[in-house]
Amino acid sequence: MARLVVAGGAGFLGSHLVERLLDRGDEVVVLDNLVTGALANIEHCFGRDGFVFHQVDVSDFVHVPGPVDAVMHLASPASPADFDSIPIQILKVGSLGTHRLLGLAKDKGARFFLASTSEVYGDPLVHPQPESYWGNVNPIGPRGCYDEAKRFAEAMTMAYHRTHGVDVRIVRIFNTYGPRMRPDDGRVVTNFVVQALRGHELTVYGDGSQTRSFCYVDDEVEGFLRLLASDVTEPVNIGNPNEFTVRQLAEMVIEMVPEAGGLRFDPLPQDDPAQRRPDITLATERLGWAPTVELHEGLGRTIEWFRELLADRAAG
Ligand code: UDP
Repeated sequence: MARLVVAGGAGFLGSHLVERLLDRGDEVVVLDNLVTGALANIEHCFGRDGFVFHQVDVSDFVHVPGPVDAVMHLASPASPADFDSIPIQILKVGSLGTHRLLGLAKDKGARFFLASTSEVYGDPLVHPQPESYWGNVNPIGPRGCYDEAKRFAEAMTMAYHRTHGVDVRIVRIFNTYGPRMRPDDGRVVTNFVVQALRGHELTVYGDGSQTRSFCYVDDEVEGFLRLLASDVTEPVNIGNPNEFTVRQLAEMVIEMVPEAGGLRFDPLPQDDPAQRRPDITLATERLGWAPTVELHEGLGRTIEWFRELLADRAAG
């Protein structure tokens, strides 16, 4: 049993992680400012043994009394729609938030776990992307706030490791989907599923030939736990290497949701990566991890979750 701090624990990924930690008997202190996280994601955790929630902005202030074994930093808005609306908060939580949480880990002698991103590879010129690739990022473009915040966070994490001896883990997360995504988060899986369930057309940006590789949330969290328990201090890609075009994804959703409309083609956003797929050799060899949930199966679970959510909302 361990005591962990999870910053961003009320978010999509954070809440699934918190659940897994509680299930295995850990104590969990969640820190979240609820900007993109939601109490609804963790309401079932209140009252469970070892669960504590504090509504705080880790960019401003972090204080956790008592011993801590690990500090997990998953706090950040992460959807391209957030890059437009709250870029400064994103830069702050990636920089100031990371600094404060590293300070907490150092103070407590705790392991530090950083949720980084495939966005550190930008619009990649190497495909698939191994961890050794340094990336192709436009620092001043619309995605720069997120990409550079996470690149800074990785640099700060390694600086604390080298300078202060903090024990660190860095996961580079690729596109992940599943229950508890925000229906209005603007990402491709949520947009397509919600549009389809509402009988609307699916908004394909550009010609839909850009690719992504989608990992089901349970697989992703299993990768986190294996990395946390490992001795790997360099960044590790955790993502599903099965690659799909955005158009293929749209067609799959249309096939799975009877009420879906057809395809609509909208302009491609600036700096939208043309392709993305993780090289997971490191995760497989060092963590014994590989994803197990195929896109069709994971999408089915996600569609059912959104169907219930929309029905609940319609019922008030
Ligand atoms: N996309 C799309 N329609 C949408 C939302 C997104 O075609 O309604 C595309 C987007 O242009 C990108 C891909 O889907 O090429 C994945 O977008 P998302 O916002 O999910 O995340 P990203 O991988 O770009 O961070």
